[in-house]
Amino acid sequence: MSSQHTVIVGGGIIGTLCGWYLTEAGHRVTIVDRGAFGAACSKSNCGYVSPSHVLPLTAPGVIWKSLKSMTSGDSPFYVKPTLNLQRLGWFFKFARRCNERDMLEAAGVLHELLQTSKQLYEDLIEGEGLECEWRKDGLLFVYKSVHEFEEYAKVNQMTSERFGVSAKPLDAAELVKFEPALREGLGGAWFFDCDAHLRPDRLLAALRAKLESRGATFLENTEVKELINEGSHVRGVRTTMGEIIGDRFVVATGAWTPFLNQQLGLKIPIQPGKGYSLTMPRPQNCPRLPMIFEEHRVAITPMDSGYRIGSTMEFVGYDDSINERRLNLLKRSAEIYLREPYTEPIEERWFGWRPMTWDSKPLIDRVPKFSNVWLAAGHNMLGLSLGAVTGKMITQLINQETPIVDPRGVGLARLSR
Ligand SMILES: Cc1cc2nc3c(=O)[nH]c(=O)nc-3n(C[C@H](O)[C@H](O)[C@H](O)COP(=O)(O)OP(=O)(O)OC[C@H]3O[C@@H](n4cnc5c(N)ncnc54)[C@H](O)[C@@H]3O)c2cc1C
Repeated sequence: MSSQHTVIVGGGIIGTLCGWYLTEAGHRVTIVDRGAFGAACSKSNCGYVSPSHVLPLTAPGVIWKSLKSMTSGDSPFYVKPTLNLQRLGWFFKFARRCNERDMLEAAGVLHELLQTSKQLYEDLIEGEGLECEWRKDGLLFVYKSVHEFEEYAKVNQMTSERFGVSAKPLDAAELVKFEPALREGLGGAWFFDCDAHLRPDRLLAALRAKLESRGATFLENTEVKELINEGSHVRGVRTTMGEIIGDRFVVATGAWTPFLNQQLGLKIPIQPGKGYSLTMPRPQNCPRLPMIFEEHRVAITPMDSGYRIGSTMEFVGYDDSINERRLNLLKRSAEIYLREPYTEPIEERWFGWRPMTWDSKPLIDRVPKFSNVWLAAGHNMLGLSLGAVTGKMITQLINQETPIVDPRGVGLARLSR
């Protein structure tokens, strides 16, 4: 296998972890990115590696809840009205999946991927000593209202019975003792001890250094425009910087993947789901644990070297402007829950395009049109969490080994059904 040159298009967490397991299996790897390495959606996300997130976005009642929250003007969720047929078709399919049967199907797939990925991360980060502020502290789902806190008990019972994913309830009095950074008078919280978190840009930098020491090449500011093929065999890619010849190709282009539709002979159902984060120095009264303010859908990440507030989901196409209102919303939401919600100076105001599929599941498979091209994209809100398992599965699929997780749930066949 050592003579195999594998070209990976996309230097986000997915492409990088494909590179990690491929080099481990003896491939020579080149990672090509249209921009700077690791500078897109994988850079300043919330850093959760979260088996707790077993339930997909496509859940019963989600459409109604989201539309209702959009009328408040302060919603973390926004859909720009559109006549774009591709986007309308995506929303139609998304809406059709918001029922119990499809939610449970996706949850079953995500559960196995998430559990396996967490274990792989432990082996990788602890085994290699990667410096990325890795912590296995768990995660809090915090509720403002007692009613919403109590309602979550039904979901917790269901996820613990079906998937063995269960959280511990903490009422208002217990909560302030458990996490003194929170204000008094909140509804309560659910604590998941299964989750971990890290600083994503540090993980990417650590992986790059290790990959380079294994002989991997990184080509930045190099956009792949075309696949160069002879029938079903691709022999290279044509980029803005010239041709790159290879034996195998992995397309890990996140939210940009549909721009390669014609080349891949596919209609990739990915829409960019824009989210924001603010990174700043740690407050004096910094939360001990990462936490999500469930009613406001805002996430907090305490890191050794900083502190991050992130969230929001905007479907506004490939709009790369920063919406100040959304950033202010992050701060205002944090004020409701935390004694010291943010600090100055804000070191980074960031957005990323999550690669959203209509069924909440990623696409990990060989591209049917070609014998030597694989796709690893569409990781929705869980791309960091699912990075390790994706890299491992792609490597096993390429090497014709049995994948660590059954790949049928994430295959491309579902697109033609
Ligand atoms: C606010 C926010 C918080 C989040 N928090 C979490 C979290 O806590 N945990 C979690 O698991 N997930 C989280 N996510 C989701 C996660 O960030 C994404 O799912 C993940 O980063 C997707 O990784 P990727 O490698 O597929 O995409 P990207 O990181 O976007 O990488 C794709 C790369 O492909 C390159 N590319 C595209 N087209 C081409 C081309 N033609 N040629 C060459 N290069 C190309 C791009 O430049 C880019 O660098 C969050 C997202 C947001 C926005």
